Amino acid sequence: MIAEVIVDVPALGTDKVFDYVIPEKWLNIVEPGMRVAVPFGPRLIQGFVMEVKRESSLKKLKEIKELLDLTPVLNKELLGLGQWIANETLSFKISAFHAMLPAAMKAKYEKYIRRTKLETDPELESLFLSQEKIAWKEAENREILPKLREQVNLGNAEVIYDIKDRAKKKTMTFYTTYLREAELIAHKNEIRANATAQRKLIFFLMEHSGENFTTQQLIELSGTSSTAIQAFVKKGILQKSQDEIYRDPFAHKEFERTLPLTLTEEQQKAITPILSRIEADEYQTFLLYGVTGSGKTEIYLQSIQKVLEKGKEAIVLVPEISLTPQMVDRFKGRFGDDVAVLHSGLSLGEKYDEWRKIQRKEAKVVVGARSAIFAPLENIGIMIIDEEHETSYKQEEQPRYHARDVAIKRAENHQCPVILGSATPSLESFARAKKGVYHLLTLSKRMNEMALPSVSIVDMREEMRSGNRSMFSVELFEKLKDRLEKQEQTILFLNRRGHSSFLLCRDCGYVMQCPHCDISLTFHRFSNEMKCHYCGFTTGVPEKCPECTSQHIRYFGTGTQKVEEELNKVLPEARIIRMDVDTTSRKGAHEKLLDQFKSGRADILLGTQMIAKGLDFPNITLVGVLSADTMLNLPDFRAAEKTFQLLTQVSGRAGRHELTGEVVIQTYAPEHYSVQLAGQQNYDHFYQREMMLRKMGSYPPFYYLSLVTVSHEDLMKVISVTEKMAKFIRANLSEQAVILGPASSPIPRINDRYRYQCLIKYKHEPKLTQTLKRLVEHYQQQYNKEGLTISIDVNPYNMM
Ligand code: ADP
Ligand code: ZN
Ligand code: ZN
Repeated sequence: MIAEVIVDVPALGTDKVFDYVIPEKWLNIVEPGMRVAVPFGPRLIQGFVMEVKRESSLKKLKEIKELLDLTPVLNKELLGLGQWIANETLSFKISAFHAMLPAAMKAKYEKYIRRTKLETDPELESLFLSQEKIAWKEAENREILPKLREQVNLGNAEVIYDIKDRAKKKTMTFYTTYLREAELIAHKNEIRANATAQRKLIFFLMEHSGENFTTQQLIELSGTSSTAIQAFVKKGILQKSQDEIYRDPFAHKEFERTLPLTLTEEQQKAITPILSRIEADEYQTFLLYGVTGSGKTEIYLQSIQKVLEKGKEAIVLVPEISLTPQMVDRFKGRFGDDVAVLHSGLSLGEKYDEWRKIQRKEAKVVVGARSAIFAPLENIGIMIIDEEHETSYKQEEQPRYHARDVAIKRAENHQCPVILGSATPSLESFARAKKGVYHLLTLSKRMNEMALPSVSIVDMREEMRSGNRSMFSVELFEKLKDRLEKQEQTILFLNRRGHSSFLLCRDCGYVMQCPHCDISLTFHRFSNEMKCHYCGFTTGVPEKCPECTSQHIRYFGTGTQKVEEELNKVLPEARIIRMDVDTTSRKGAHEKLLDQFKSGRADILLGTQMIAKGLDFPNITLVGVLSADTMLNLPDFRAAEKTFQLLTQVSGRAGRHELTGEVVIQTYAPEHYSVQLAGQQNYDHFYQREMMLRKMGSYPPFYYLSLVTVSHEDLMKVISVTEKMAKFIRANLSEQAVILGPASSPIPRINDRYRYQCLIKYKHEPKLTQTLKRLVEHYQQQYNKEGLTISIDVNPYNMM
């Protein structure tokens, strides 16, 4: 029998199946979706079996060398989905398959040198000592690589590659006695009187025959010692066994079980069509549009419950930053151990364990960030995407898939509904709902009937003119003081995106730039360094301007640290918790800081995007946004949409409970419609306004986009290649398609490579995928040797 295998070489020439012979001993074992190790050129590499067949059109076939799985890791549906993704996103199949599996299952290759001549040979003995093979690393350390190369050339040794499966199962040793009481008594009588530990253990075992204990449990429960346990194993009183255990990151937690709430009339109306699709096993995408606090999550929970009653499974996607313990509690609280959680905070091993729990059908509800969309469930009854407008659902590396598209594809495969939920739906989704492609469900009221918080927009230019140079407007400062007195809590939000602290000379205007990228360096106060966020270049902070030697070189921009210092100065009595990348990098830090804030041990929570979502604390009555408009200036047609969404989200943090909330938005662009309408929490007006602009600019949702970016060290080459590409694309698409460029990318150079791009806008181009594929084939092969890279982003979210 022959296996068709996709090998782990992400390249154009290898993006197809290769045939391998299945050795006799694995004839009935090898199945599509299993990982195998196969010889490929001089190496042994990992691959995925796609198909098993009887014949191959090729003559000389190599054999599969190793079997890495005994059951498929990708089921039929996922194998098909991977191929679909590869095609839709113009990426390699192998990259798509890897994206669908936990990172721990990605192969790691280790290089060895193996002795092939086994007869006595003093030279070989001195090199290999008594081993059959030595690791490449070890050979490097012992500085014997040149000598080994001689031996390889002589044919006495060879270089081999071993694939290491990083997916290790965690096991634990358990001890049990299977002896009957009479036998135990006989043993007891043989134990010396002064062997206290052994005596304690035997008495304990007499009470607990047949039960499993770990070493630690035995010691704690009986007061024995580990030496005694080992002695009993030797005597055959205790049986040792290895059992697999899961690394459960939530094991330490007790979940309070919750019951379904009686739905309000509005909720009832929204959930009815969803339940009937579940009942009928039919696909349909729903857009659940409802402000924060309007009861969307309760609708998710009750829909899932219906799915579970039907014996089916559910996937819930939540943006990484809102995947807080609070969020997880709500699902675990309702469905207990049926819930598996997949997010990036887990270690490699923990992620792998959760994945296997799902694969073994021990979990029925999967809650997770983007990649949880690939959970290996086989009987899906609903797919839910919360905060569907979040751009983090788009993966920004190969394969550049959008989880929303994958969810809809899988829902079609399984014939089940999809719920997209948001208070500020993406323009694309809302437009589709208006056209009837999605079924629109609306929740217009907040659950507690609380009015939305009152918002005031402060013009920071006005503050400047009236002489206030502080980063807090008079209004925000007064309100901060007021909350301190009333012992209520405040969230201060700093929009970091599109904003960084850079170094500027006040005399000549010099801005310190990365020497390898066309972007200014960011000042890092913590390490007192200047860093490039694109290539990692780091340098010291100059004391004098490198251009004009002036001493008036300062950093500008506002980091969270700087805000904290300023707060300490103007409100010394305030207790502040700062949440940013620096303070939350350690595992569990995020949760700890939030707990601290929740329990009232701080007055002000200061942070970036990280705190914009999901927080639901009763005592927060003030939200301050320090710089609302930093994103507006980015060269991105979604800048206004992102600003509107973020400001609306942040404002929603205030006054979720009995106390009413207030929001202060500080901005340099108070007249901008995204700021104005976010202040009024008026999505519908924003939608109309923004749609008009999108239509005028031929942007989504009126047009689709594809972005082709070319990069190379030589600027002239980049320009000429991009020009040729633009011509080629133009020649192959219809008149309707608009091709912008070649133009320099918004960041024209990264890591010493110049970047040019073409933006394709189109409505209906059946030949587009094929054209882009041919383009890549043609140019990639031609320019591969010269180091040219071409990246294609279909439906891009990052325009930089
Ligand atoms: P959203 O997901 O839209 O932000 P939630 O589902 O979190 O809204 O609901 C907001 C609050 O209202 C939560 O505390 C939730 O427990 C409560 N809630 C939701 N539905 C009901 C209901 N039918 N009856 C009573 N309380 C509800
Ligand atoms: Zn200067
Ligand atoms: Zn750089």
